[in-house]
Amino acid sequence: MTGKNKPTNVTIDRDQRVLIIQWNDGRECRYSFAGLRAVCPCVLCQGGHSNMGKPADKLLLAKAKNDELNIDAAAAVGSYAIQFAWSDGHDSGIYSWDYLYEACL
Ligand SMILES: [Zn+2]
Repeated sequence: MTGKNKPTNVTIDRDQRVLIIQWNDGRECRYSFAGLRAVCPCVLCQGGHSNMGKPADKLLLAKAKNDELNIDAAAAVGSYAIQFAWSDGHDSGIYSWDYLYEACL
C-alpha cells in the first residue's frame, strides 16, 4: 500500500451498476458492482485476517454476474479509501484506492 493512486473523479452509476473512477494519472477504470462485492476486502469476505491485504482476484472481479446488487451509499475513508453500503446490508469492506487501482481490468 503506497497510497500513490488517487481518484480525480468517482461516479457511481446505479443504472448500469458500475463504479467509474478517473485516476490522477489519467487512467479510467470501470468496476461492476457485483465484481466489487465479489472482491470485498473485509475480513468476513476474505475468510480471515490471514487472507487480508492481498490484491483483488481479477477473475472474480470480471466474472461476477452483475445483477440485483446495488450500492446504497458510499463514503470516503480518510483520503486513502472508499467504503460502500450494499443493498443487502453489507458495509464492512474498506476499499483502498491502491486496491481499486491495482484491480483495474
Ligand atoms: Zn465483505
